[in-house]
Amino acid sequence: MIVNVSALYDKSCTCRHCQTTFSTKRIRSGTLTMVQRDSVFYTTFKEQSLNPIYYTVSVCPQCGFAFTDQFRDRLAPWQKQVVDEHIAAKWTPKNFGSIRQITEAIVSYKLAIYAAELTDQPHAVKAGLYLRLAWLYRSQENVAEEIRFIDMAVNEYEQSYIHTDYKLGDKEMSEVRLLYLIGELYRRLEKFDLAIKYFGKALAFRNHTIESGIIRMAQDQWQLAREEYKEKKEQKIG
Ligand SMILES: [Zn+2]
Repeated sequence: MIVNVSALYDKSCTCRHCQTTFSTKRIRSGTLTMVQRDSVFYTTFKEQSLNPIYYTVSVCPQCGFAFTDQFRDRLAPWQKQVVDEHIAAKWTPKNFGSIRQITEAIVSYKLAIYAAELTDQPHAVKAGLYLRLAWLYRSQENVAEEIRFIDMAVNEYEQSYIHTDYKLGDKEMSEVRLLYLIGELYRRLEKFDLAIKYFGKALAFRNHTIESGIIRMAQDQWQLAREEYKEKKEQKIG
């Protein structure tokens, strides 16, 4: 595999649990050629082996605490204690600081999800991890795992909507974008009634948002979800 190594750089990180300093790879923004962005904002690049989401998670080689830039900066004493008991005590030193293959990327997300659940990170942060893990499984054509993690992602995005913590996961996220995303994830799960409900909520922003691209996408996917819903109902009857 030819890797455009110049796009990668080493970033120095400090573990938010044990304060160990370690290095992890990142991808320089703007170095990859975008091929496509799909309806849930999953971006594919020409340089497939250099998917930036492979490097979102930093894994401390010393204690095993895995986190992203969106995790809260500090761990409270109770969080440190659960990380000690459930992660650090069971960890065998392993380094994720080199070029990652997809299997290592998947492991890094599972570690981060475990850490995020244990330390009660914002819903938006957990949702983003679940969604990216679903994308990784999609790229492996593992539909069962993709669906399983989309289901977990949409639950967290709904909680994020209810608790309005969505800016904590992605500063580009807006309410209308979140509503659209929840709708589209429900559509992929074939929960069309819920998809239609959330697209409807997004479309209610029609005259109150500058994000006209999102409104157009919500309109298209709302239409699609209605057709799919009808088809499904007809299949049931027939
Ligand atoms: Zn650590």
